[in-house]
This record gives sequence, structure tokens and C-alpha cells, in this order.
Amino acid sequence: VGVIGGGQLARMMIVPSINLGLDLKVFSETHDAPAAAATTVVGDYTQLASIREFAATVDVITFDHEHVPLSVLRVLEDEGVSVQPPSRALEFAQNKLLMRKRLAELNLAMPVWAEIKTEHELQEFLDANGGVCILKTPIGGYDGKGVRVVRTVTDAADWLTSEGLSAAGGSLLAEEKVNFVREVAQLSARRPSGEFAAWPLTQTTQANGVCAEVICPAPNTSADLIEEAGKIANTIAQELGVTGVLAVEMFETPNGRLLINELAMRPHNSGHFSIEGSETSQFEQHLRAVLDLPLGSTRARAAASVMVNVLGIDSDTDLLGNLDAALAQHPEAKVHTYGKAPRAGRKMGHVTVVSEDLQFALAQAHATAKALLQG
Ligand code: ADP
Repeated sequence: VGVIGGGQLARMMIVPSINLGLDLKVFSETHDAPAAAATTVVGDYTQLASIREFAATVDVITFDHEHVPLSVLRVLEDEGVSVQPPSRALEFAQNKLLMRKRLAELNLAMPVWAEIKTEHELQEFLDANGGVCILKTPIGGYDGKGVRVVRTVTDAADWLTSEGLSAAGGSLLAEEKVNFVREVAQLSARRPSGEFAAWPLTQTTQANGVCAEVICPAPNTSADLIEEAGKIANTIAQELGVTGVLAVEMFETPNGRLLINELAMRPHNSGHFSIEGSETSQFEQHLRAVLDLPLGSTRARAAASVMVNVLGIDSDTDLLGNLDAALAQHPEAKVHTYGKAPRAGRKMGHVTVVSEDLQFALAQAHATAKALLQG
């Protein structure tokens, strides 16, 4: 299996690839990428020639991130390379506006949205939606970059210039600011031949646009909501032709509806809990799915799994320096560090605690993350 991108997601595919006896090769951007242990090529993923050469060494190409240009992937596909998920699915994870248009065709519930190219269109949207909206750059955003709360057109002046618009993909995406009670994510996987499996619904908490905490299963969730979330993921996976892991991020509204926020077609932060909390981790499942191998059980291993991200405080953050103390204090916690240079707000690792007692898991996971950051 060839993975484009050498981040923590590729890193976490290494262990299951060894267990299954697969040969994992990673195309990384740098020699010291988190997935360095499986890196066979260091290069620029926007360059067709390098990606083509890499593809010739593997049976299937998959991804650690969604930034490989579709034009590059389409050439590979035309040349007979198995790209999973295929470019015709991936385009909806790369471009939030295309995603909104496609999900609208499928009659799936979403926040009120509009395509915006001018100040006038933005003003109209603000007027129609209570004077506030969430404005997004359809391409290139991640972890809250490319997402802005906007109350006046001047808040978006830099994005509405011709350079701003072209960097965003030609237009912007305006959405109503959803008054959600919480955010949830439905993680699933699908094989090219059609088999589909979903994990229990998770509850996700974002801080400053970045995932901070995930609880699986999402506490206090009605059977109807669980069923609805599963149906949404199944519809999207099938109709868009997604293969591998699919994460559907959603808002739960005060009246118990689910509105789709965004899609990721790769292992996702909301699924890290599954390494310890599920019979099959999302990383193993992704490898099985892209190879069209039978999917594993997604049953939970305990009543509750809690995953807490470890975000860098500053450039002196030293997770490995604090590892001894953190492990000594929290024997139930499973610590994952990603081998990244420290930086404020950077995802440097995560902690998972799996327990029959949700409150215990929450307290331990947060305390371990704190011990890793502060010693
Ligand atoms: P990214 O692609 O950077 O992850 P998202 O589109 O997921 O960006 O937005 C990041 C966060 O911003 C979301 O998790 C949510 O907390 C908030 N957000 C995004 N869209 C809306 C919306 N329409 N209404 C309210 N909050 C939103």
C-alpha cells in the first residue's frame, strides 16, 4: 500500500500494516516526517512525475491528507493505478463547495449555505441569516484555518480580493452559524466492492477550530439519532463512491437534527480512539478497505473510550521528556506521540483511555495529556 503524506495518520497505519504483513510505503514531504519509519520517497506530492514513480512501486495508492491535486490523481487513474478513494470521490473532500452541492442533490440535511463571489452576495447572505455567518474557503483549509465568523463584509475583505478568491478555489462558502448542542462524527469504512461498516457515533469537541476531545460512543444519544447518523454515512459512502475510511462531521441541533458539516476520506481524528477502543482500529480498517479485503468488527471493547489530543504549548513542549512521569502517573492511559517538532497549537500526540466508567476515562485522559505537556 502506498500512502501519500507522511503525517501522523500514515504513522498510525504502520503498526497494523506490519501485523497484517503488508508492505506499507509512504511518500513524505520531509525526511523527519511522523511516518519516517515507512517513508520510501521524500518529495513534492503536487508533482506528477514523482507521484507516478512512487505509484509504480505499490498496488494501491491512498492518502494521509486530501491535498494531492485531482489532476495528478486523474492521470494515475487513466494509467490504470488503483487510487482509493478515487478522485471522483475525493473531490468532495477537497472542496467544501462541491461537497455542499453534491450533498444537496442527495437531499441530505446541512446548514443553510450559499456560494459567495462578491461583497454584495455576502451582504445578502448576512441579511438573510441574522447578520452573522461562518465563511469558509472551499479548498485548502484544515483545523479551522479557512473558517471565519463574519458579521460584516469588511471581515472578509482579504478573502474577497481576486487573489483571495483564486486561493479559495474561485468562490467562498457562506454557512448559517449553527446553534448546535454538540458536534458528532460518524466514522465508517467502505470497500470498492461495496462492503460497509460503521463505528459507534462519536462526540467531538473542538477548541479554536481544532479537535480537542472525542468520546465514543457519544453519550446520551437516542437510538433514532444513532440510526440517522449511520444512514447518512452509508448514503454518502455509496453515492459518492468513497473507499477506505470516511468521517462525516455533523452538528446536532437543539431539536435533535443532524446537519452535515464536512467530510474526510481517510482516517480521522475522531477515530483515533479505535486503536484501543474498537475491535478493529480505523487504521487497520483503512488498509483492509483500500485493498478490498474483508472489513473487521467495529464493536466497542468497553463502555467508553475517551481520546484527548495533545496540542503543543510552544516550541519548548517536550512530550518525550515528560513521558516517564505521565506513564508513571497514568497506567491506564495509552499514549501516542507523533514525533513532530513542537509548536503552539500543533497536534503532537494523543491519549486514549478505554474504561467501563466514562468519568474515569475522561479524567485520566485529560490528566495524562496535561502531564505530557507540563511534566
Ligand atoms: P476544518 O476543515 O478546518 O476542520 P470545519 O468546516 O470543520 O473546518 O470547521 C471547523 C469548526 O468550526 C467546526 O468543527 C465547528 O466547530 C465550527 N463551524 C464550522 N462550520 C460551522 C457552522 N456552519 N456553524 C457553526 N459552527 C461551525
